[in-house]
Amino acid sequence: MTARSNRPCVRGELPGPRSAELLAKQTRRESNARTYPRHFPIAIADAAGSFVRDLDGNVFIDFLNGAGALPLGHSHPELVAAVTRQLGMFTHGLDFPTPAKDAFTEAQLAMLPAAMRDRVKVHFCGPTGANAVDAALKLCKTATGRGEVISFQGGFHGTTHTGMALTGLVANKAPVGNGVPGVHFFPYSSCNRCPVGLTPRSCATNCVYYLERALQDPNGGIPLPAAVVLEMVQGEGGVVPAHPDFVRRVRALTRALDIPLVIDEVQTGCGRTGTWFAFEQYDIEPDVIIASKALGGIGTPVAIIVYDQRLDTWAPGAHTGTFRGNQLAFVAGVEMIRIFRRDDVLGNVARRGEQIAHALAGLRGHPWVRDVRGRGLMWGIEIADPLDGQPGGELAGLIQAEALRRGLILELGGRDDCVVRMLPPLNVTAEVIDMACAILFDALQECCPAGRAA
Ligand code: PMP
Repeated sequence: MTARSNRPCVRGELPGPRSAELLAKQTRRESNARTYPRHFPIAIADAAGSFVRDLDGNVFIDFLNGAGALPLGHSHPELVAAVTRQLGMFTHGLDFPTPAKDAFTEAQLAMLPAAMRDRVKVHFCGPTGANAVDAALKLCKTATGRGEVISFQGGFHGTTHTGMALTGLVANKAPVGNGVPGVHFFPYSSCNRCPVGLTPRSCATNCVYYLERALQDPNGGIPLPAAVVLEMVQGEGGVVPAHPDFVRRVRALTRALDIPLVIDEVQTGCGRTGTWFAFEQYDIEPDVIIASKALGGIGTPVAIIVYDQRLDTWAPGAHTGTFRGNQLAFVAGVEMIRIFRRDDVLGNVARRGEQIAHALAGLRGHPWVRDVRGRGLMWGIEIADPLDGQPGGELAGLIQAEALRRGLILELGGRDDCVVRMLPPLNVTAEVIDMACAILFDALQECCPAGRAA
């Protein structure tokens, strides 16, 4: 069995003996904050396309997808070839111009909506989403001379001090005193669990009305902010797509008040939701785009902010960093975009997304499934107690573990981790989607308590 197999295969209990050995060493040596191996007790040997193989020879469908950093799956041969070519030539370029960087910048600008291409500038950040989030905030604060920031409940923007400050997850920030000040949280359009207690029949997108009122009320308590930071689909927050009216009104409000609108496309970017950037589906243009994760094609780290040139007020050296010139990421990113065009990968996202939507539609009547949500190849199944509607985080964890035993790696997200998430590679095949959905259904069947249906 190799990772180049085209079907999952798990033999025996997890972890197998060789994985168990490395997991035990890791537990002794590494930080208590380690995350994924707690949910997926495996040590990885190799990976190809949609599959990973552990040290014991078990093969899994990988719908965690490097947390969204592998748009063409693992070890795509053409990306491997591009990186290998560059590896012997030049790897670390700080922020010097190089042909690889020039080609990457060109390719990125070409993917923007035409009207934006000539009015933006690009800054290469330290190579993580959170570093780019930090850069975006610093830029907006510098350009506006203001200090307050608006973020949204349920949002996720990273785990550095700034990323965490903008993130809804209270448990992460509660133990860390003196966080970044001046961040104000407003309700997001999470219609399934309406933050202002309305139902679709009584609602006039009151979540955004609240923001509109607060920012224009002389007694609203918040000085004019430097930025509003928003995800088009809250990913870690449980795959919650923003309501179109919500997004359009946030854009209209920020424009009217001259507040830079920062769209965090770290997870939704590079085709994940069916368009290169998710904001394109909302008919808006942001002032700042944050992108990372899939930009480097094969998991090679890179992060950028793309922003309206009127915000280009930074002094030289205002956001430096040693690892801002990863030539391997640049060539992989360019090659990825070439393959996207050649193979119509965005078309595949649309087709496979429809396939998932169709398959998961059968879950809508399931007593423990409160909601099924998604865009493109970013899907979530919200598990909740049928009697009281409480988030079913524990049950979602059992489903995740059962799916793993059957050969499928699935991430969780949302309140209390109650949303089972599917994040396949964007070139995933119909067969792999079918296999993954069958495993998910079996895992649900196995784990959901019978007799507790409402
Ligand atoms: N923003 C969003 C929307 C994200 O989903 C993430 C990561 N899941 C981040 C920022 C942080 O990116 P990183 O982990 O690379 O710092």
